[in-house]
Amino acid sequence: MTELQQKLDEQLAELNLQYLRRLQHELPQIQQQVLALAVDHRANWRERVSELSLKFHTFAGSAGTFGLPRLGLMSRQLELDCKAWLGNQEPPPAIEFKRVAEVLEQLTVTELSESLQPAIAARVEREVKGQALIYLLEDDDATGNHIAQTLGSYGYDIHWFREVAAIQHALALKTPDAFIVDIELMQSEDAGLSFIQRLTPELQQIPMFVISCHDDFHHYLQAVRVGVAGFFVKPINASALEARLQRTLSLREHDAFRVLIVDDDVLLAKHYALVLQNAGLRAEILTEPAHIFVGLQQFRPDVILLDVHMPDCSGPELAQLIRLQDEWLGVPIIYLSAETDSERQLAVLIKAGDDFITKPIGDHALVVAVFARAQRARQLAEIMTKDSLTGLLQHAHIKERLAVELERSQRHQQEVSVVMLDLDHFKKVNDSYGHLVGDQVIIALANLLRQQLRKTDVIGRYGGEEFLIVLPECPLQHAFKVIEQIRVSFNRLPFVVAGTEFHCTFSAGIATGTNTAHPDYSIEQADQALYQAKAQGRNQVLLATPT
Ligand code: GH3
Ligand code: MG
Ligand code: MG
Repeated sequence: MTELQQKLDEQLAELNLQYLRRLQHELPQIQQQVLALAVDHRANWRERVSELSLKFHTFAGSAGTFGLPRLGLMSRQLELDCKAWLGNQEPPPAIEFKRVAEVLEQLTVTELSESLQPAIAARVEREVKGQALIYLLEDDDATGNHIAQTLGSYGYDIHWFREVAAIQHALALKTPDAFIVDIELMQSEDAGLSFIQRLTPELQQIPMFVISCHDDFHHYLQAVRVGVAGFFVKPINASALEARLQRTLSLREHDAFRVLIVDDDVLLAKHYALVLQNAGLRAEILTEPAHIFVGLQQFRPDVILLDVHMPDCSGPELAQLIRLQDEWLGVPIIYLSAETDSERQLAVLIKAGDDFITKPIGDHALVVAVFARAQRARQLAEIMTKDSLTGLLQHAHIKERLAVELERSQRHQQEVSVVMLDLDHFKKVNDSYGHLVGDQVIIALANLLRQQLRKTDVIGRYGGEEFLIVLPECPLQHAFKVIEQIRVSFNRLPFVVAGTEFHCTFSAGIATGTNTAHPDYSIEQADQALYQAKAQGRNQVLLATPT
């Protein structure tokens, strides 16, 4: 396979995965809509069925492209059903909607993903069950224990084998998501390495991490030649191993890219939106330039597609307006225009905006152009907003996200929980083991939070050893359970310095996110609960008492 082909395949796999994520989110919603129709099939039925018809139409057009032909066929049939009903004066009987709901019931994402390439299917399964299966081959008890315990605390399903024969036996039954292999087993000098070399080509695709007691060029080179994803020297820093594992497995893959289309031509805008949606991106249309700030605030696009000629406010004017707010400086603005004169294009770009795409543009070209820019914009935004030690959001940015989530929750009438979390007696950790070890503890906690919380949760480093977490669509009691579970896992996490093991704890306070006008209010409430948790002896999670 050429390198280019491989890159394209990766890109395609990524799009497939984003598509499946969207399905995982949308299928239950559609099912809810259908069930609601089954209960009350008269009120507004025409509008509701039209909406369903459009959704099935989108799936029918896109599912095949993403390797899900069965979904495509079913959606096509359901779209035809909707169309037939819409042709009548009266709504269909409720039993028809029940039947559709039953059809949808069968479309679970796990089942859908069966027809996908094995590598993508494995990633989907891992996302659905939220736990990665790791095979560890290690015959040294101390190292094995340390890794098993640490990865176990992080929520991995870790299977530890001491001999090559045992791991081979397990491999015949189930394929893991990653291997961790000691390349200097006592059984024979090259047992670990030759185990890796003898893996079938298919198993060699699985991420491989090796452990060695050698830290020299020769051993690294040997490892590179068998295709490893990570090399760790004893004594093992298990948190660093976990961080690398997390990155490799991409347990927290980014969400679909978001594209805001601003065009007064509704039909054309709808067409672009559909094309992008079919490729697994999220697209929203804004036809009224005056609503731009609300649109940006609510949708937070990665890319803006802008029409040049609009009646009330031209594209370049709108672009300049957007650039007046610091918050949107990083979002690429691409003009979609029939303008082909390069002089005139340049004149527009000098005012504001980043690029021109000339209409008419082919569907595929549009997707590629937007995808590439969105990806780049995300990378830059990551670097600009993330704390360098932990990769979590910086103070100002987590507060900004809190405000956004509070507003969103109010619109959707859902509960947000706000968590303040602070390491206990952290000064002592620094004093006893040094600042560098202190940093390792902070990183380990950040990784644990990232790994155990949902993709939609927002995590920030509020201060030195203080974290602010926003949990959307999460009632207080549930937030308590989640954070309490993380507290217990963190307690179990072993840190090793010069052969001695120690453990750390944290305290946390949780408040319900209310009062959209003052996001700081929720932070204060959570902070008071945190203060109380500290006063009551630390290592505990407390809920704020509403005042
Ligand atoms: P408490 O249980 O009351 O929270 O006690 P504490 O010792 O954790 O709290 P205090 O606020 O007195 O001390 C926090 C310490 O965290 C002091 C500071 O040096 C340390 N710290 C802050 N940021 C970092 C960092 O990035 N790395 C390291 N290693 N230490 C940090
Ligand atoms: Mg502290
Ligand atoms: Mg503190």
